Amino acid sequence: MNSNIKTIIFWAVLICVAVLLWTVVHSGHGKPEKQISYTQFMGEIEKDNVKNVVVTGSEAKADFVNENASLRVQLPVYYQDVIKALDAKHINVEFKDSNTTPWVSVLMNFSPFILLIAFWIFMVRQMQSGGNKALSFGKSRARLHSSQQKKVTFKDVAGVEEAKEELQEIIEFLREPQKFQKLGGRIPKGVLLIGPPGTGKTLLARAIAGEASVPFFSISGSDFVEMFVGVGASRVRDLFEQGKKNAPCIVFIDEIDAVGRHRGAGLGGGHDEREQTLNQLLVEMDGFESNEGVILVAATNRPDVLDPALLRPGRFDRRVVVGRPDVGGREAILKVHTKKIPMGDDVDLSVLARGTPGLAGADLANLVNEAALNAARQNRKLVMMVDFEISKDKVLMGAERKSMILSESEKRTTAYHEAGHAVVASMLPNADPLHKVSIIPRGMALGITMQLPIDDKHNYSKAYCDDQLAILMAGRIAEEKYLNQMTTGAGNDIERAT
Ligand code: ADP
Repeated sequence: MNSNIKTIIFWAVLICVAVLLWTVVHSGHGKPEKQISYTQFMGEIEKDNVKNVVVTGSEAKADFVNENASLRVQLPVYYQDVIKALDAKHINVEFKDSNTTPWVSVLMNFSPFILLIAFWIFMVRQMQSGGNKALSFGKSRARLHSSQQKKVTFKDVAGVEEAKEELQEIIEFLREPQKFQKLGGRIPKGVLLIGPPGTGKTLLARAIAGEASVPFFSISGSDFVEMFVGVGASRVRDLFEQGKKNAPCIVFIDEIDAVGRHRGAGLGGGHDEREQTLNQLLVEMDGFESNEGVILVAATNRPDVLDPALLRPGRFDRRVVVGRPDVGGREAILKVHTKKIPMGDDVDLSVLARGTPGLAGADLANLVNEAALNAARQNRKLVMMVDFEISKDKVLMGAERKSMILSESEKRTTAYHEAGHAVVASMLPNADPLHKVSIIPRGMALGITMQLPIDDKHNYSKAYCDDQLAILMAGRIAEEKYLNQMTTGAGNDIERAT
């Protein structure tokens, strides 16, 4: 549409210019013309030098008798005398309308205006589009995921049962707000999901929307922050307006610590952009009534830096901790993610879950994906346990660096070093069982001795720590005892022991 108009204007201007040029070039008809004065013209008539006069409007064109040229003269308003003189000499006189065709003359007359108008339209359009840009600057960048789009439900979120339980109430409210309002209950306006990255906070927020079948707006905290003061605040205002229009709905702010930081802590006094944005957020959260059905869900992994005003009742009064999953949780998450891939009979997800301590949901999703990719690379129809093992090692310890060139003596040193760890680990009563020893370099390490805890540990006993120290030292000692040398290979062990 826009480009159409542009093309039309372009062609109109081009045609105008072409017509103008054409009329200018073709105004003379071959013969050279001589502009003369009225007196000269009358003189030429007297001298019988003139034949055949053509009068067009107030102009006369006369042919010379002998010369191959025409005369052009501007006639006075009343040129009866001229005609009389011509008649007296029996000179042929013709009267003509102006020789240009009417539409050309109209175009000629109006072309400056047409050009001006075209230019004006062009400018106005430019300004308008510029204006739109300027206006949309303060609009929030929230993306709407409507309930029709790939719906996420609680079935897709695993291993965070407590969080799901706490959020159940919110879902019920979104489904049947009247039930709660009848008893005068006030529903939380904000839910703060706290947890390490990749534990499924975003997923949970989407699942709330999915379970309650309401629209879901998502925006990142950093989307509010712009170079210009006031933009963030206006975006917050717009976000809430959008939310109210679509109520009941969930508005999700990811990484809220980007705007929700403790006020007065930054540089630039109390008036920097972020603080204004936060102030607006605080105002909006108090401003909208909870029965409007807009529930703000925010996620952060730094609850400690948030402004206390954000956390007071009436704002983010529900805090839900989304922790790293335990063994059972990891198995459940693996089940969710392996649902869609064909697996061999030998795959045991509980073993995998046990072997992936500390991994969050996102890591496990990545692990399953890597395994599927690996199976595809091997042209297998099913994803086997080997694929999972390979991808687990890759996720936990980094990719193998098979191309790394190592001398025999270096490999020998690494072998002794890792063997030292391994022997001690298998001998000590309080150590985690040995899982894997490898001297294939991965990531930064030349070799690896891996132990796997049987269950997730939250407390470490002194005996466990002593054994762990012994295992860490065993690498260096093995090198010293059997190769009679010390290498920097123990650097990382010593660091960890410290
Ligand atoms: P966060 O917002 O906490 O950083 P996300 O919710 O963005 O993490 O998680 C990223 C991806 O990891 C999700 O899309 C999902 O595939 C996977 N994931 C994370 N946690 C879980 C979980 N508890 N159950 C199932 N999948 C999960």
